[in-house]
Amino acid sequence: VRNLKKYFPITSPFGRLKGHVKAVESVNFDLYEKGTLGLVGESGCGKSTTGRSILRLIEPTEGSVNYRGKDLLQLNQREFKGFRKEMQMVFQDPHSSLNPKKRIGELIEEPMEIHKIGTKADRMERAMDLLKRTGIREDQYFRFPHEFSGGQRQRIGIARALAVDPAIIVLDEPVSALDVSIQSQVLNLLEEIQDEFKLAYLFISHDLSVVRHIADEIGVMYLGHMVEKAPTDDLFANPLHPYTKALLSAIPIPDRKQRRERIIIKGDVPSPIDPPSGCVFHTRCPFAMEQCKSIKPEMLQQSDGHQVACHLYN
Ligand code: SF4
Ligand code: MG
Repeated sequence: VRNLKKYFPITSPFGRLKGHVKAVESVNFDLYEKGTLGLVGESGCGKSTTGRSILRLIEPTEGSVNYRGKDLLQLNQREFKGFRKEMQMVFQDPHSSLNPKKRIGELIEEPMEIHKIGTKADRMERAMDLLKRTGIREDQYFRFPHEFSGGQRQRIGIARALAVDPAIIVLDEPVSALDVSIQSQVLNLLEEIQDEFKLAYLFISHDLSVVRHIADEIGVMYLGHMVEKAPTDDLFANPLHPYTKALLSAIPIPDRKQRRERIIIKGDVPSPIDPPSGCVFHTRCPFAMEQCKSIKPEMLQQSDGHQVACHLYN
């Protein structure tokens, strides 16, 4: 994904363009088979918009998504259709993302039907297999989503995403609505099927401790910008960006000796309609310098795979 940008136009009631919500501004990353990139940041930082943009559930304003030699954003809808099944999404709320009027078996068969995969009997057999694989008994095939718990519904959502044998799954806060004890079960399932189905994950979460569990690499987003990206262990051991340091310092650590100094960031996130000049974090950064107000920091490599956009390291 290169230089991804998504602006949402704001129009007056008379249809006059009043400005833009700058939801995503120049985001770059790579996804690998069997690899997981975690995208973290507070709500409104652009992580969900990034996920939806690469799947073209919303059309990005600019940028490229290169997949197996094709820029997916350059394809017309008909050409893109063939790629659509390669990329699936699992949403936060399995309650609202599963049609309550359909039996769970049908819900899993539906994407196969849309992509004209197999016969009716083939689809039913695969749906049964996927139910079993994701930890739901096959004989539950004829039940409705409301008959299942939140964790089970999320398993059904995952089975549905797997139905068309995708290469990439965007998981948008997949465990955020679940109890902590259920969260780890679902995360373990996601890890198992990643290897088995050779999946690449883009794992979106506001919860750093969840992302730490599953991601190989983490990208930290603030106000539409990726401000730091690093291998997971490296990010936790050696966070560089002041915003990342603040996020990490807010995670409770039981061991006293390992505790970090708590960094409190003042104020609220500025409006993405009129983001700050220079470094977008300068209005809240405890280390802001004069140049931060006017000069936008570039994302620069600090060590192997560890990049940060901050003038402190330039
Ligand atoms: Fe803070 Fe300046 Fe670094 Fe931005 S560039 S994070 S304002 S020190
Ligand atoms: Mg979101």
